[in-house]
Parts: sequence; C-alpha cells; structure tokens
Amino acid sequence: MTDGGVSTATRPRIADAVVDEFRAGLRGRLLRPGDDGYDEARRLWNGMFDRRPALIARCAGTADVVRAVNFGREHRLPVAVRGGGHSFPGHSVCDGGLVIDLSPMKGIRVDPVARTARAEAGVRWIDFDHETQAFGLATTGGTVSDTGIAGLTLGGGLGWLSSKHGLTVDNLISADVVLADGRFVTASATEQADLFWGLRGGSGNFGIVTSFEFQLHAVGPTVLGGMVAYPLRNAKEVLRFYREFDRAAPDELTTYAAFVTPPGGETIVAVFCCYSGPVDKAEEVVRPLKLFGPPAQDQLGPMPYVTVQRLFDEGFPTGSYYYTKGDFLADLTDAAIDVFAEYAATKPSPLSGVLVQTVRGAAGRVASDAMAFAHRKLPYAPVIVSQWLETADAEKNVTWARDFGRALQAFAGGGVYVNDLGYDDADRVRTAYGANYERLAALKKQYDPDNLFRLNPNITPPT
Ligand SMILES: Cc1cc2nc3c(=O)[nH]c(=O)nc-3n(C[C@H](O)[C@H](O)[C@H](O)COP(=O)(O)OP(=O)(O)OC[C@H]3O[C@@H](n4cnc5c(N)ncnc54)[C@H](O)[C@@H]3O)c2cc1C
Repeated sequence: MTDGGVSTATRPRIADAVVDEFRAGLRGRLLRPGDDGYDEARRLWNGMFDRRPALIARCAGTADVVRAVNFGREHRLPVAVRGGGHSFPGHSVCDGGLVIDLSPMKGIRVDPVARTARAEAGVRWIDFDHETQAFGLATTGGTVSDTGIAGLTLGGGLGWLSSKHGLTVDNLISADVVLADGRFVTASATEQADLFWGLRGGSGNFGIVTSFEFQLHAVGPTVLGGMVAYPLRNAKEVLRFYREFDRAAPDELTTYAAFVTPPGGETIVAVFCCYSGPVDKAEEVVRPLKLFGPPAQDQLGPMPYVTVQRLFDEGFPTGSYYYTKGDFLADLTDAAIDVFAEYAATKPSPLSGVLVQTVRGAAGRVASDAMAFAHRKLPYAPVIVSQWLETADAEKNVTWARDFGRALQAFAGGGVYVNDLGYDDADRVRTAYGANYERLAALKKQYDPDNLFRLNPNITPPT
C-alpha cells in the first residue's frame, strides 16, 4: 500500500510501512479505503451512519484483538469496537480511526452436559441459537436474530427467556477480555470479580471481550410463541388488559406489547408472547389473552423456539434509516397508555413502531447492585423505533420519535436501557447506569484511565 499513510487528527500521519507491519502481524485482514470488502465492513445495521474509518482490523482471534488494541493505543487512534453492528447510535464505526471488527470471530462450543456455551464476540443470536438448540438448550438472547451477542450482552440483554432465566448478563459465567493496555484476562465471579461486575451492563467501557461463557437452560425446541393483535382503535383497553395479564403471568411467560403496521395493513396493537414452560400448560396460561375481545389476528401457538427468535427479523432490515428513543417505566399507567395510543396513531412511517419489553420475574429479582445493570425494579422498557427509507423523510420521522419519547418522559421511572440509547442521548448516559454509575467510574479509571474505549455510552474516567 502506498496511498499516503494514515492521517489522524490527534497524531502525525502513520507511515505506510507502519501500517504494513500492523497488517503483517494480523491473522485476519486489515482493510483501508478502496480495499475489497471495505464498504461492506464499515456498514452498520442503521443506515444513518456512513462513516469512513482509516483502518478496519477484521480480527480472526484474540491475538489480532491484542495487536489491534495496542496499535490503536500507541497511535492514539479513535477506536470503535464492532460485534454484530447493531448499535442504535452507530458507536461501532468511526470516521478516520480504527474499527476493531470482531465479526469474523464466530466460534461456539456447547457443553451439553454442563449446559454451558462459550461463544466468540462475532457471533449473532441466530448462530448461537442454532448451536444451542441442537441440544434443546438456550439462554436469554436478543429478539432480532442478526443482533450480535457481544453488544447486547454487555448492555444487559432483554429477551424472550428473561422472565424465567433472567437477563443475558444474569447468565454470563465468564468473559475473556483484552484490556486497554493489551493485557488479556478472564473475568468471572472468582477471577477479576470487579471487572466481571462492570462488564455485566457496563457497555464495553472496560475492554474488548473476545468470548463469552453462558449458562444454558432446557428450552423447547417447541415453545408457545407469536402474537395476538387487535385493531388500533382498541389500543387503550388492550394495553390496560395487557398490564394485568403481564403482572399475573408465570415466569415461564415473557410478554411484550407492541404497535406495528404489517406490510400493506393497518396499524395494530399486539401482545407478543413466549411461553417456555411445558407446552401442554401453555394454552391455559394464554387463554385470557385469547379470550379478550375479538382479535384482528391470532398467531399464537406452538412453534420452534428459533422461530420465536426470528419473529421480528423482517421488520428491522439492515440498511434502513433508524432513530430510536428508549425509557424504563415503573408502571404502565392509564395516562402512559394514552400516550402510546396517541403516538401510535400518528406515526409518519408504516415501518415505525414501539415495542414495550419487560424486566420481570427472574430478571426483576436480581439486586440492583449485583452487577452494572441497575434497573431491576422498572418492569417496562419501551423502545420507540422510527424507520424510513428516503433521506428526505428523516426530519418527520425523527421528530415523531423525539416527541413520543418526550411525552413518555413524564412517566419514566428514572432509568433508560443503555442499549436503547440513541445518538442524541449523551446526556442520558448517567441515567442509564443509574445508582451504579460511581462504582463504574472507579472501575473505568482502573481499567481504562485514558478512555481508549470511548465510542460507547461512555463512562468518563474520573481524574
Ligand atoms: C434490530 C435490533 C433489535 C434489538 N433487540 C434487542 C433485544 O431484543 N434485547 C436487547 O437487550 N437489546 C436489543 N437490541 C439492542 C442491542 O442490544 C444493542 O444494539 C447492542 O449494542 C447490539 O450489539 P451488537 O454487537 O450487534 O452491536 P455493535 O454495534 O457491534 O456493538 C455495539 C457496541 O457494543 C460494544 N461492543 C460490541 N462488541 C464488543 C466487545 N466484544 N467488547 C467490548 N465492547 C463491545 C461497543 O461499544 C459497540 O459500539 C436490539 C438492537 C437492534 C438494532
């Protein structure tokens, strides 16, 4: 390569020879603008971010990650870390810096006897579920199957199994981590326990996790899943019913409420379910939902767990433009329900919607200071997702989600899910870490005092 080296805002140009030496020391590819695969590798799920990194290190394993961390630190490059590329605010790509791209790292080893799995940081939930379900096992994972296990786990991890088995972080047994100084450590309840505390909700602030070890549980392969949906005009009564139904649900049942518009159809209010207990008990548990009013659609029934894990896939394609707003609510009050109904009726794009995820059952019984993820007592986590296809439609779609988010703020319980923060939510980062912020800041000072890992919901190291 002789295209003039790598220029950075913070240091003199990095000579080609230095870049070549970096490349030669990697098992994976090092991509620069113009290289084959560069444009594909810089593309994120959210089409809003068209950034051009100077270097993309496509890591093949931990050795590459160590080398890339050392290179980024020594040359003072902005460092973005990419797992599955589903960051709402686009943190996993940068302009002009180094992307440490873990997506080629896809190894998964399931131990069906111990019921554990170790998965590398480039694994997506579709890969993970494929391997674990071969043994009738699973752990709580994201509800869109091409989301990465890495970013999702490091923020907390809300999914269809969370009422029964806790959040994804509640099932994390250990993590292999490359620290900002290039050291490699394993963090668990017994090794580097303080780091392990911080990893479980601290959003990549403390190092790069190269692999995750999870506890697995017997799940499916057949569970009861799907949705019962009602016309939008019934939104308020449906959500009031939903509130009581969800409160009374056993741990085996995780439910989400949502406003969505099926392709070519009318906007509906839907209650999505996953019942992961014995299938012969499922019908009885969901009967009240099936009997409540005449539904517009009833698509709730036995299906493979992996199908449930893909229910939302078509609604969130890679490359659309997205803008998001999230919150945690302590209650789904009648007044909050009115806000949902009002904004669902005025969304400017049929592709947009809102999903009310839940933190309940086992996920809600963990102490708020047991790990970095703090918000155990705020059971509703609505995420408003604006989606559009033409740049000209940006303003009205952003405005809708922003106004909707602002209206919900009146009912917010004082928290927001760190993985639901949008690109203009920098002032809400402290709220996302809640009462655990000070402890996290002390850990940041210990593990990343120069804030190498800052392209994330950033915890500023105290001076
Ligand atoms: C369509 C969609 C559906 C979603 N559904 C859910 C859901 O059901 N439940 C839920 O809890 N969340 C959900 N989320 C939010 C999701 O958890 C976050 O967007 C998460 O950050 C995605 O992880 P990723 O690895 O794909 O993203 P990336 O963009 O690759 O990473 C996001 C950030 O995580 C950090 N990071 C990534 N990998 C590492 C690593 N190995 N080491 C250190 N830091 C790292 C970096 O700061 C990076 O910028 C969803 C998001 C999308 C876009």
